[in-house]
Amino acid sequence: MPRLAVAMLSHEGNSFTPVPTDLAAFKSGTWVIGEAAAHAAFADSAHEIAAVFDFLAANADWSAAFLRIAQAGPAGPLPRETFETIAADIMAGLADGPFDAVYLALHGALLIDDEPRGDLELVRRVRAAIGPGVPLGASFDLHANMAPELAGLLDIGAGYRTHPHIDQRPTAARVLAILRRCVTAGLRPRGAIIGMGAILPSINMRTAEGPMAELEAFSRGLEAADPTILDATPFGGFSYGDSLAAGATAMVWRDGDPGLAAAALVAEMRARRDRFFIRLPSPAEGIRAALDAGRFPVAVTDPGDNPGSGGIGDTPGLLRALLDADVPVATVFVFFADPALVARARAAGIGAAIAGTLGGRLTDAYGPPVPFSGTVQTLSDGRFRNTGPMMRGVEANFGPTALLSLDTTPGGRNLRVIVTSLSRSPHDPGLLALHGIDVADIALLCAKAKNHFRAAFLPLVSTIIDTDAPGPAAIDIASFPFRHAPRALYPLPQA
Ligand SMILES: [Zn+2]
Repeated sequence: MPRLAVAMLSHEGNSFTPVPTDLAAFKSGTWVIGEAAAHAAFADSAHEIAAVFDFLAANADWSAAFLRIAQAGPAGPLPRETFETIAADIMAGLADGPFDAVYLALHGALLIDDEPRGDLELVRRVRAAIGPGVPLGASFDLHANMAPELAGLLDIGAGYRTHPHIDQRPTAARVLAILRRCVTAGLRPRGAIIGMGAILPSINMRTAEGPMAELEAFSRGLEAADPTILDATPFGGFSYGDSLAAGATAMVWRDGDPGLAAAALVAEMRARRDRFFIRLPSPAEGIRAALDAGRFPVAVTDPGDNPGSGGIGDTPGLLRALLDADVPVATVFVFFADPALVARARAAGIGAAIAGTLGGRLTDAYGPPVPFSGTVQTLSDGRFRNTGPMMRGVEANFGPTALLSLDTTPGGRNLRVIVTSLSRSPHDPGLLALHGIDVADIALLCAKAKNHFRAAFLPLVSTIIDTDAPGPAAIDIASFPFRHAPRALYPLPQA
């Protein structure tokens, strides 16, 4: 009876945010161990771990041990002790082996404060613990910064094929299916990971259209033309992870030598490099375009503070522009993370007047705090299950929240702002529903968000206008102080 070990340490590390990712961030995110808890959290969801339950249902002779499953929202590097705590849980579970195969759900852009190639360190330890003969597979986010050494440590790897990411479950299923063939049929795939020589912004990396859609199609063509090619993944990389492994890569796994196919894929990536670099309007320009178009509801985003890229829910640029524009239509701004302000709103109560500042709380590097006055409109516990296609069925937790009307702020008469306790990606309409907001009832929705927001919101609005405001995930990659990434990577300044 084959026995599978399953573990997850998934984190996208942003080297340029002031907020580290400590153990509390995982415990308020995803922090699960054991089969019963994993089943309750994920079995009916779009998550990687749901695929393990699918696998067990389809392979009744297999059993699985669910070791530590840990995931936190993108933010700064893990303190070494946080990594060691999670790694120790995984190692302790592996010590309960032997296992016939091991599946790791990783991100691929994990940063530890003293080791920017965190995924590589974890995979090395797991490989050392299980020995060279036990098949080891891993799934990765499309925005992984893949160290080439991973190809020599794993037996199979696969990355998400969608952006926004709605294929966590099938990606894990592919890894599990190959692991099963390794165990039952003696398959021994070989992998290759080749860097394309660039750090790409992810703004024009959606898989519905444009250069990434073409690269995904090319990869499917590679697989279709040669059945010995088991998986081909173009990784876009994570722009704000400063690591020796930074940048976009091509990864191919083959029952045979994968070198030629990986070289062909990376050549396709290099040929499209410049199409990933686009210009965005300023917040003022974006708001003006949204109002001028007059087709409501419309959305304007602030990708530079997108929590899905390590944003901090704190930069004031887009809010400042909204107030300066004195928007004439019903507008909701999502969100600022400010637990003290939420606590004050809760103490004051619904209907009470409230004043203070929004944004610029953690740092004023991206602009000064914005003074406001207004009214507490709604309070919530900030918890819901995602209803949109992105991480559907998985619980979201923003901590206690408040919806504030800025009705007595100059320029804020039509403006309401959701304030949360935790900085989380606002990609699901569930957050609005918690506050009694239906997108159809407002004219302008402004969000600290980027591409993942489109999965659920594109059908709900006439268009989504991305803008370029200062923040830890701003579009101008060359402006960030990289220290570990090789200078040869485009578009970093040459020393
Ligand atoms: Zn991603």
